[in-house]
Amino acid sequence: MSYVDEVLELVKQKNASEPEFLQAVTEVLNSLRPVVEANEELYRKNAILERITEPDRQIMFRVPWVDDKGQVQVNRGFRVQFNNAIGPYKGGLRLHPSVNLGIIKFLGFEQIFKNSLTSLPIGGGKGGSDFDPKGKSDREIMAFCQSFMTELSKYIGADVDVPAGDIGTGAREIGFMFGQYKRIKGMFEGVLTGKGLTYGGSLARTEATGYGLLYLTEELIKCHGESMEGKTVVVSGAGNVAIYATQKAQQMGAKVVTCSDSTGWIYDPEGIDVALLKEVKEVKRARLTEYAAARPSAQYHEGRGVWQIKCDIALPCATQNELLLDDAKQLVANGCKCVCEGANMPTTIDATEYLQANGVWFVGGKAANAGGVATSALEMSQNSERLSWSFEEVDAKLKGIMVNIYHNIDDAAKRYGMEGNYVAGANIAGFEKVVNAMLAQGVC
Ligand code: NDP
Repeated sequence: MSYVDEVLELVKQKNASEPEFLQAVTEVLNSLRPVVEANEELYRKNAILERITEPDRQIMFRVPWVDDKGQVQVNRGFRVQFNNAIGPYKGGLRLHPSVNLGIIKFLGFEQIFKNSLTSLPIGGGKGGSDFDPKGKSDREIMAFCQSFMTELSKYIGADVDVPAGDIGTGAREIGFMFGQYKRIKGMFEGVLTGKGLTYGGSLARTEATGYGLLYLTEELIKCHGESMEGKTVVVSGAGNVAIYATQKAQQMGAKVVTCSDSTGWIYDPEGIDVALLKEVKEVKRARLTEYAAARPSAQYHEGRGVWQIKCDIALPCATQNELLLDDAKQLVANGCKCVCEGANMPTTIDATEYLQANGVWFVGGKAANAGGVATSALEMSQNSERLSWSFEEVDAKLKGIMVNIYHNIDDAAKRYGMEGNYVAGANIAGFEKVVNAMLAQGVC
């Protein structure tokens, strides 16, 4: 049995109840086969694959808080510190009822390679809770965030582990958590990113993931002799990533015709009105029915369905496993040329394989949405030097990083004879740097 298959078997045995984690490990290790085969003896002897698939530590804790009725509620908190070979652990905090250890592990594992790809010194980690922020008052959110940070503060620090936002954790939640950390530790340090601009946040962090997705997509298209101008784009999601991806795509001259949330989706053939979408989702925190009510050109549909709309480019920006095999078939049948993932693992493995087999240029989230964490690392740099850079300066660095990522993954795929396989290219490029650091640091 090959070394990859042996380790996949081992990981399956040890983590049988964590399907998302197994899916991520399977996808990554399968695409690393050529690299592993070329270095099999060295990697085996040093148990590289066993070590890289086992987190440094996984922390689970109780989060008790009091709701507005005076009732004590209990949630479960997580922080998985996966690998710090190239820098302090870095990765977001997800607040969503679906959160469990397997999901946090899958995200933390992916984060190792994504962070490595940014070329910045950050390791991989992820955290969160099964707390549902929806429908909670500001006071309830604060009570939860303070309790969550009271425990988490024992395990993080500016040079140890620097969490950030993710689904359900925006500027409000980061603010409450930062305040509690400061209070407990009695010091002001850049322990979280995604902070408000008045207390150490970086300009352009809010826009970074969506903008970065488009910088990479534009470079990919350009290298295939095309431009964004006049392209029809289908986006899923209506959160942070989707909103700023839509904005940047439209600035580049493309037309984005869809968005979606967890209950329904919008088809707006005139092009999504970003200002209205922001008002509905960021200010009112309402459903997309409100977007449709305010915009005559928009059609609202219940359930899921954005992938049936004809497009040149598809950008899944909502959540994991939201683009399935049938959706991939529909996209190909409609002539879609390019799929770049704004969300983490939105495309299932069979859908990815179908898209690749049918000549669609497919870039996975690890590379395509790395702009968020890259800009978080730029926020860490600004905090360390106690300076703030202008929007233009951060945005220019972000663009440089994303263009560089595209060329690195393209080059890695070519080096191993898999030209155009950007999924393998991203895994290989991210993996090589981490493994070199692990080997240099001995058995740890
Ligand atoms: P948000 O919470 O801001 O938005 C998520 C969006 O997806 C919302 O519109 C939400 O709908 C929708 N959604 C959630 N679950 C489902 C579902 N099961 N079916 C359909 N729609 C759903 O999150 P972000 O935009 O920050 O993150 C989106 C994705 O991008 C995640 O996978 C995240 O891990 C990834 N990502 C985010 C980064 C960032 O900087 N924010 C960085 C890198 C990756 P509703 O409005 O109803 O809640």
